Formats: sequence, C-alpha cells, structure tokens
Amino acid sequence: MKIDVIGCGSALSTDLNTSAIMVSDQTQCWLIDCGPTIPRALWQRNLDINQIKVIYFTHIHPDHCAGLPALLGQWNAFKRSAPLTIYCQKPQQESLEQLVSLASWPDKAWSFAITWGTIEDQFQHENWQLESAATQHEVPNRALLIDTGKQRLFYSGDGRPTDQSIALMHKAEIIFQECACYDALPSDASHGDYQQSVALCRILGNKSMYLYHCWDEYRPMIQRAADKESHLHVSDDGLVLEI
Ligand SMILES: [Zn+2]
Repeated sequence: MKIDVIGCGSALSTDLNTSAIMVSDQTQCWLIDCGPTIPRALWQRNLDINQIKVIYFTHIHPDHCAGLPALLGQWNAFKRSAPLTIYCQKPQQESLEQLVSLASWPDKAWSFAITWGTIEDQFQHENWQLESAATQHEVPNRALLIDTGKQRLFYSGDGRPTDQSIALMHKAEIIFQECACYDALPSDASHGDYQQSVALCRILGNKSMYLYHCWDEYRPMIQRAADKESHLHVSDDGLVLEI
C-alpha cells in the first residue's frame, strides 16, 4: 500500500495544502477528500489522467470538498475515460452533485462516467474491504478503514475520536488522526488535540500514528512533542509512505 499525503493542513492554513491523501496498491487508487488546494497539488504530480478511480469524502466542509469542480473539470478537459466512483454520506450527496454540475456547467456532457456510492458501516469496493465510523465533528464525518487484504490504514477525516473510530484504529497498522490543537480541548469539541492523541497512541502500542490538520499556530509545538514519542509523527505535504 502506498500513501501519498497530498495535503496535511487545516482549513485556513497559509502554507500547507488542505488535508487529503491518495491511497493505492497494484489494483486501485483512491483520493480521500479534495479541498481547494488539492487539484493543483495533484497536477504537480503529473499523474495519469485516469489514475484515481475513487474519491471518498469524509464530510463536506469546504476544505474537504471545494476542489472537486476544478479536479473534475481538468479530467473532463483532458478527456479522461476511466469511470469514477464517488463515495459520500447519502445526506451530503446532493451538495456534492452541485459541485459536479458546476464542473461541467453549462455543458452536461462528460468524457467519463461518474457513479455514486453511499458510505456504509462496512462495504466493499472491488477487492478492498472498507469500514467507516462517525467521529465527533460539527458536521457528520466518517472516518475510514481501508483493508487491501494485505495492509490496513485508518484515516479519521475531521473530528475528535469516538469509541467507534478508535475501534477501527485498533484494526489498522497505520493511523492518520486529525489533531487541530496542542492544548487539550473540551470533551465536546469538534476536533482532536495532541494530549488526547498521545494518550491514544500509547494505548494503541506499536502502531504508527500520523497527526494532521494541525492549526498552523500549534503545529510547531505538536511537532516538538511528537519528536519525543517513538510511534507518533506529524504528517506533511508530500510525505509518501509505503507499507
Ligand atoms: Zn470539517
């Protein structure tokens, strides 16, 4: 499994891309989230126009989905032919469909087919097994566990861990957890924090945990603290992991 961190920044980061990763093995390539700075970051990688087969939206805050029209527009302009599947939560699909229509407006013709998939607690896409769980966030967010049959990756999307999302972390070898703040946030907060993350990392044992979506002002503190922990890391734009 290859994990390519397209962006690790928070919604309003001034120098990091909005948070998104690309996950692939020999059979599939998924993009998880597509905020406003993600299309250009992908174009800079000179990917094959047909490479990404699935886009999964953890939730539809703009920093996780507002790049969709630009990305689809580029694929259409360069005559992508491979079908695309978009996974989202059913109540969030209508808003995403508006972004899709914006990508080709006023022309309705597409060079490739788009299929919508609904995120379930457990589902399958080709040879990958997927599980999702709600986190504690201001809009419904679904953390994702990808099981390729060989490796398991957990990606939180936004939000504070819940019992359900932590259960998925236990199944993964590698964990990406949103961590907005260094200081402990209230238990009803909409984001993760470092104090909670480091405690969780110790409970999870030898698993590698990558923190991301850090608010810019807290990122240096989070980095310094994580440097002292053997299994805790801070994600970064352009980070590539092969497990
Ligand atoms: Zn959010």
